[in-house]
Amino acid sequence: MAENEFRRSVSSDSAPRGSRCEWCGKPAVSQLTAIGGSSHNDSGIFCRECGEKFARTVAAAAAAASTLSYNSR
Ligand SMILES: [Zn+2]
Repeated sequence: MAENEFRRSVSSDSAPRGSRCEWCGKPAVSQLTAIGGSSHNDSGIFCRECGEKFARTVAAAAAAASTLSYNSR
């Protein structure tokens, strides 16, 4: 998947100071919100590693959703 496709699916902000990753408890670096696909509006605060996993999951869901909408035309 292209990098811009990946980024379009997730909105990224800086994590609040002192916050922890929701998945592993390490210091968080970013707050991510899904803006497409089946996890629309799903969001969380993640460390770099988990943030990438989250974004990849959302991008995959968004890609699946757009494939479905092409098929239904
Ligand atoms: Zn983490």
